[in-house]
Amino acid sequence: MSATATAVSRHDWTLAEVRSLFELPFNDLLFQAQTVHRQHFDPNRVQVSTLLSIKTGACPEDCKYCPQSGHYNTGLDKEKLLEVQKVLEEAARAKAIGSTRFCMGAAWKHPSAKDMPYVLQMVEGVKALGLETCMTLGKLDQEQTRALAEAGLDYYNHNLDTSPEFYGNIITTRTYADRLETLAYVRDAGMKICSGGILGMGESLDDRAGLLIQLANLPEHPESVPINMLVKVKGTPLAEAQDVDPFDFIRMLAVARIMMPQSHVRLSAGREQMNEQMQALAFFAGANSIFYGEKLLTTANPQADKDMQLFARLGIQPEAREEHDDDVHQAAIEQALVEQRDSKLFYNAASV
Ligand code: SF4
Repeated sequence: MSATATAVSRHDWTLAEVRSLFELPFNDLLFQAQTVHRQHFDPNRVQVSTLLSIKTGACPEDCKYCPQSGHYNTGLDKEKLLEVQKVLEEAARAKAIGSTRFCMGAAWKHPSAKDMPYVLQMVEGVKALGLETCMTLGKLDQEQTRALAEAGLDYYNHNLDTSPEFYGNIITTRTYADRLETLAYVRDAGMKICSGGILGMGESLDDRAGLLIQLANLPEHPESVPINMLVKVKGTPLAEAQDVDPFDFIRMLAVARIMMPQSHVRLSAGREQMNEQMQALAFFAGANSIFYGEKLLTTANPQADKDMQLFARLGIQPEAREEHDDDVHQAAIEQALVEQRDSKLFYNAASV
């Protein structure tokens, strides 16, 4: 039986099977991924999240790719935990420009007892705005995990980053087992999991396969799987890492789609470096979630946004919230897209 037909709820992927997916001719792999994608999702909808850093820099972890690590001098401005009110203002703006999920990230090893009450207030406030909530705060203990779930946190992001074998080359201050433990606490508390990894850190093909096997062989697939392209930041140990072949990046998205057919696969960090053609190919391979509008949080003109322009050119529409679809809000987003499509800015295939 083909991987397509058997993929739905598999949690027993082997390295040999995943290797053979990566080794498929590009067109065969993309066809298979697109076929799986269409069985579970509307192929012309992409989920849109906005990410806000609620505490930036000076992180005690030593992730070699990360400009926020206190171990490296990257010239990043450090910031303390943002005030709750400021976070809620940014969330309201994210909603106004079409985001359905608001992700809040803090550069911590783990949240402290002192910070937890503020973090919980942020979750409650963002939730009250009608947005889905997501946080990434580092390692959690069981009590913190339960408190976040009770406050209404929908998703917790905690990336595995790479395979267990390659992991020690990238991070030494937190173990792979720690990460798996946090993911298990999140699942036990009833929250959804967002977990993925990064390409371009010097990992082998088997490491990429190994990461996907770890994610797909969890007792439940993560609902959200961010696949990042390394953003090389001066001052980090990976500043001079070799570029990933763009086709290999697309292959990773396609294999993730086949192995975790019901998960949202997110085209995540590194998207700014991808041209529109590569992003279109990524959507065809099964990516159906993006971070959007970070810069828009400070601009008044969503019409000018490149992401929405690309969506309009590709006939893609933002996905409504999974629960409680807000038809009015959705209609407003779609209207904005139609207006953009009609504007002179856009290439009109019908007129050629
Ligand atoms: S834990 Fe997160 S913020 Fe801290 S160094 Fe690693 S990736 Fe960066």
